[in-house]
Amino acid sequence: MKIKTKSKAKPKEKPIKKIKSAVVKPVKAKSPVASKVKAKVEVKAKAKALKSTVKKPVKSVHVAAPASVSPVHVAGPKLPAMPKPVREIKPVVEKAVHEVKPAVLKPAHEIKPSPAVIKPESPVKPPVAQVSKPVVAPKETVVAAPAAKDLKELELKLPINIKDLSVKLQEKPSNLIKMLMGMKIMAGINQVLDESVVSLICEKFGFKIKHAPDEEELILSDHQEKDTAENLKPRSPIVTFMGHVDHGKTSLLDAIRKTKVADKEHGGITQHIGAYRVALPGGVITFLDTPGHEAFTSMRARGASVTDIVVLVVAADDGVMPQTIEAVDHAKAAGVSIMVAINKVDKPQADPDKVKKQLAKIDLNPEDWGGKTIMVPVSAKTGQGIDNLLEMILLESQMLELKANAKRLARGIVIEAKISQGRGPVATLLVQNGTLHLNENIIVGKFYGKIRAMFNDRGQSVTAAGPAFPVEVLGLSSVPEAGDQFFVIGDEKKAKELAQKRQEAEKQIELKSVKKVSLEELYTQIKAGVIKELKLVIKADVQGSLEAIKDVLGKINTTEELKIEIIHEGIGNINSSDVVLAAASNALILGFNITSDDRAKELIEKEGVDVRNYNIIYELANEVKAALEGMLEPKIKKVFLGKAEIRKVFNLSRSGLIAGSFVTKGRLTRNCLANLVRNGEVIFEGKVSSLKRFKDDVRDVAEGFECGLSLGGFTDYKEGDIVEAYELEKVARKL
Ligand code: GDP
Repeated sequence: MKIKTKSKAKPKEKPIKKIKSAVVKPVKAKSPVASKVKAKVEVKAKAKALKSTVKKPVKSVHVAAPASVSPVHVAGPKLPAMPKPVREIKPVVEKAVHEVKPAVLKPAHEIKPSPAVIKPESPVKPPVAQVSKPVVAPKETVVAAPAAKDLKELELKLPINIKDLSVKLQEKPSNLIKMLMGMKIMAGINQVLDESVVSLICEKFGFKIKHAPDEEELILSDHQEKDTAENLKPRSPIVTFMGHVDHGKTSLLDAIRKTKVADKEHGGITQHIGAYRVALPGGVITFLDTPGHEAFTSMRARGASVTDIVVLVVAADDGVMPQTIEAVDHAKAAGVSIMVAINKVDKPQADPDKVKKQLAKIDLNPEDWGGKTIMVPVSAKTGQGIDNLLEMILLESQMLELKANAKRLARGIVIEAKISQGRGPVATLLVQNGTLHLNENIIVGKFYGKIRAMFNDRGQSVTAAGPAFPVEVLGLSSVPEAGDQFFVIGDEKKAKELAQKRQEAEKQIELKSVKKVSLEELYTQIKAGVIKELKLVIKADVQGSLEAIKDVLGKINTTEELKIEIIHEGIGNINSSDVVLAAASNALILGFNITSDDRAKELIEKEGVDVRNYNIIYELANEVKAALEGMLEPKIKKVFLGKAEIRKVFNLSRSGLIAGSFVTKGRLTRNCLANLVRNGEVIFEGKVSSLKRFKDDVRDVAEGFECGLSLGGFTDYKEGDIVEAYELEKVARKL
């Protein structure tokens, strides 16, 4: 049984090597192309940015970009790269052949309807899907393919139609059509074929697919080049503060800024640009100014991993709280190094030792107790310990061997962006590699820009910004989103063209829902090697159920190749933090006897995260097991319809008790499924058995209207109860 779970009960020693290597382990460099597929995550940072004040232009002072800022010289060419987000797990052929690659769904507009007939693999598969998608290989197709090593590469742009493929293969189209018939696929000459099918056909003719680079890859090819060891120089660490609300994240950031950044010599006044730099005798640190794990993970969900070190802030008088644990799980899921600032030690009730004990229980063992996690007692109020905290951050960054190459075209991440009156779109960019110069052209998210002006965190004009250097820039065509990546492009025309292309592509992507891992697709993804670890976020009503769930999941036999990993667990309803974490980590959320809060529901929809709610533990375990074994029945999905608040309870002699309600969201329909929620807890699950407007029975009631409703088999209505309405929807198992 392989089950990785964070042990709460027994503190476990985690070797520092493990934590460090998690940060520098060979994360796959994010292809610029991946940024095409973006989830529109609402990033707190942005909201904050929009609220912030308009900045006045400042006199021009030329500040050279410190390319290599840290005095730390440690060998090793490891440059932490942005992890590639698994935004969209592509469906794959299940049993076809060993070498089948994930199939690409073509945007609907590009696919001409065709007479292709695919044997339905599920009785509930909607028939329309068969003509609106490229042909995919049926499950039962078995083709004897030559050994992989004998295959020659054939450069193709996918998806491709039969006609074009026949030209590439130098075969008659009729041969391909016949071959497809043998695979039980009836296709015409213009039928667009999916990668899975193309791969099968190519193998038959002794070829394997080599993806032809698309235009975007060609335009951004400069950024694909690897840095040589001699070009890589130490760079300063990028630090984010996380922790429970009110434990002092903002106060600490402010205290550090005030004492360390106030630069009287240059008359520079610190400006809020979303990040700031602190120069110390031992090196420079870049702080991200948007504390909180949700903003952090929202950025990660967009593929933007900027943080090197998370400083977990825990109040010494309050100790480890639910959001402390959430923050730790978010940081761990991102593979980021964690340090702890035990804050508010000036308070009489402060008990740092108690905090350390609590932290040890969640696998963060204090260094001074022989563990590996640096913990520094501080007070944002008195300033005590802050110098020590900064020194420790520098020390930790030495261990991480953070490096970058200042001598190349810049790329990086948008920290925040807004429209500023009189200045147009303004964005704070954090350079991750290379050096950004004035007048350079950039592609940023789906927009184009020419850097007209750059300002540092003191509002001073700068002409260049090197690695780990945050700058506010003017000259963008529109406002990008926090977490968007930017790349310098030499040719202005190409940068503009690429922005245009991305805008068009995004429209297409918006039409398709973003698809994450789902229980239904799990098996095919495991088979295709897309998934090696089934990541779970588990939320339950009480600790006892949580333990029981972990216990039964632990009994599921997973193999060496596939492990179940619980990346976060907690008590209470599913919240937005759970959803962003699951989205960024490609995890499923399993809920037990709980519901999701409102913002979480919106995010679930938007992010396409698979959330499963259960009332019976064995049902939960059986479904996970069935999914792992590829035996899952087609999913019956609960689709949120609407929500009503019970405002008054009437006793009508003929109809019995009626709950006079007001539909606050969506709509309610007669006979829809309904949960009755009281004080955040589901106390009844049933059906809306009658629905009335005034005296008339109605089929549905829309948002903003009053209605009288009753739930079959339930009479104990109370004012203030919430009725959550659902519909059942059959979802086909997709190939
Ligand atoms: P955040 O929600 O984590 O950003 O917390 P804040 O920085 O807003 O701090 C919450 C409250 O704790 C504020 O009233 C601060 O003044 C107070 N606070 C923060 N740090 C300290 C500290 O070191 N000592 C004391 N006594 N109060 C603090």
